[in-house]
Amino acid sequence: MPSEPLLTFTDRGICCPRGGFFIDPWRPVDRALITHGHSDHARPGHGAYLATVAAAPVIRHRLGAIRLDTIAYGERRRIGGVTVSFHPAGHVPGSAQIRIEGAGEVWVVSGDYKTEPDTLSEPFEPVACHTFISECTFGLPVFRWQPQAAIAADLNAWWAGNAAEGRVSILGAYALGKAQRLMAAVDPAIGPILTHGAVEATTAVLRAQGITLPPTRHAGAGIDAKSHPGALVIAPPSALGTPWAARFGPASEAFASGWMALRGVRRRRGHGRGFVLSDHADWDGLNSAIRATGAERVFVTHGYTAIFRRWLEDQGYDAGIVATEYQGETADAEAESDPALPGTME
Ligand SMILES: [Zn+2]
Ligand SMILES: [Zn+2]
Repeated sequence: MPSEPLLTFTDRGICCPRGGFFIDPWRPVDRALITHGHSDHARPGHGAYLATVAAAPVIRHRLGAIRLDTIAYGERRRIGGVTVSFHPAGHVPGSAQIRIEGAGEVWVVSGDYKTEPDTLSEPFEPVACHTFISECTFGLPVFRWQPQAAIAADLNAWWAGNAAEGRVSILGAYALGKAQRLMAAVDPAIGPILTHGAVEATTAVLRAQGITLPPTRHAGAGIDAKSHPGALVIAPPSALGTPWAARFGPASEAFASGWMALRGVRRRRGHGRGFVLSDHADWDGLNSAIRATGAERVFVTHGYTAIFRRWLEDQGYDAGIVATEYQGETADAEAESDPALPGTME
C-alpha cells in the first residue's frame, strides 16, 4: 500500500499534508507558499505567507498587511516533515518554482515560468525532481516565441514610426512583469515613456527593490497627446479604449501577449498591432524545461492541459492533470479581465 503522496490536489489548491502547507491556494489556508505576486497565485486571506525576498514587495503592495515571511533562492527550509526551497522561474521578478523534498521523494511545482531570459527576472533554473507540476498555458506547437531582441526591434520600429507622424503609441501590457519588461526592452531615445497608474505603482515597487528601469512618467491629469507628442504609453489591457486612453487620441494601439500568436484573438482585439511577447514558456520552452527536470511523472495545469498531457504520455511520461479553479475560463491574473482573450493568465 503506497503512502500518501507528497503533494495532493484539493479544492483549495495544491496541498502538502506532510508539511502542513498549500502552494498558491485560491481559498484561505493557514499556511501558503506563494510562487509569485500575480493575483491568481497570491490571494488574500491566508494565515501566513512564504515567498522569495524579491517577490515580497509586490505581494505586500497588492495584499497589504499580511504575515509574510521571506526566503532566498536556493535556501533550504524545514517545514513540518519536509524540506522546501525556491528556485528562479524566469516569469517575473521574484517568481519561483517550489521544490519539496520528503519521504525520499522530490516534487517541484513550477508556478508560471519562462525559459528565455528577459534581463529583469532571475533566469529560469531547471530543478531535478521525480515529479514535476508544470503550467502549460501555451502548450500547443503553434506557440513558438521569437527572441526578445527581435520583438523589441519590432516595437521600436512601430513606436518610432508613430512618433515620426506625431502620434502617441499605446501599448497594452500587464502591470506586473510584462509592463516593466517592455519599458526595459524599448529604446527610450525614441521619446518619453508614460504609464497608467497601475503600471506606475508596480514599477515604483520594483525600482525600490533595486531593479533598474528607464524613467517613466505617470500619465495623470494634464498629461496628454499635446503635452507629450509621440510618447509611448504603457497601460493595462483593460485601460485601452477607455476615456483615460482617449486623451492620447488619435493614437496607435497595440497589445503584447503570447495570445497574439492566434490570428482569431488578434482579430477580436481589433487593435492596430499585436506583438507576440509572453512571460510564459512556449512549446519548446515547456518541453525543454520538462526534459531538464529528469522527472518521470508530470502533472500539467493552466492551459491546454488535456492536449499537453496526451503529448507527454506519447513521450513516455506518466502524466496527469491538476485542475485549477479557473480551468478553461477567461479569468485574468491581474484582475483586468479581458473577455476578448481566452484565459489571459499572464
Ligand atoms: Zn504569473
Ligand atoms: Zn498564473
